[in-house]
Amino acid sequence: MATDFDCLFCKIASGAIPVKRLYETSDVLAFPDIHPQAPVHILLIPKQHFGSLTHCTAGESPLLGQLLSAACVVAQQQGLSVHPGGGGFRLVINTGPDGGQSVDHLHLHLLGGREMGWPPG
Ligand code: 5GP
Ligand code: ZN
Repeated sequence: MATDFDCLFCKIASGAIPVKRLYETSDVLAFPDIHPQAPVHILLIPKQHFGSLTHCTAGESPLLGQLLSAACVVAQQQGLSVHPGGGGFRLVINTGPDGGQSVDHLHLHLLGGREMGWPPG
């Protein structure tokens, strides 16, 4: 599995930097964001290093699907399921400088627990 030894999220994936591992498969890890922007703010990462979404190819489609599926499982675990009259969450993948990406390892933000504004900043 490709790892970048200078990468923060690779260190988190390997366990070199400890985090609360909320959900984990052989390919995907979910852990709380250190600076939460909502009552629930969880990051989901592939354990393999990809610099951003644009570093993925069509071959990574199954992995990207796993990330989305994992996000739904974690959302349900966090009580964010959509239900008649409410619920829900937001998924965000900041990509590149204009997208607001600050950590160069592909990650998906799961945000919830409050109503989200639109458009985003
Ligand atoms: P980005 O800005 O790249 O979309 O998101 C990076 C996220 O990583 C930010 O929301 C930031 O708060 C989070 N983050 C940065 N460093 C750490 C860390 O050491 N631990 C955790 N859990 N989150 C981090
Ligand atoms: Zn990495």
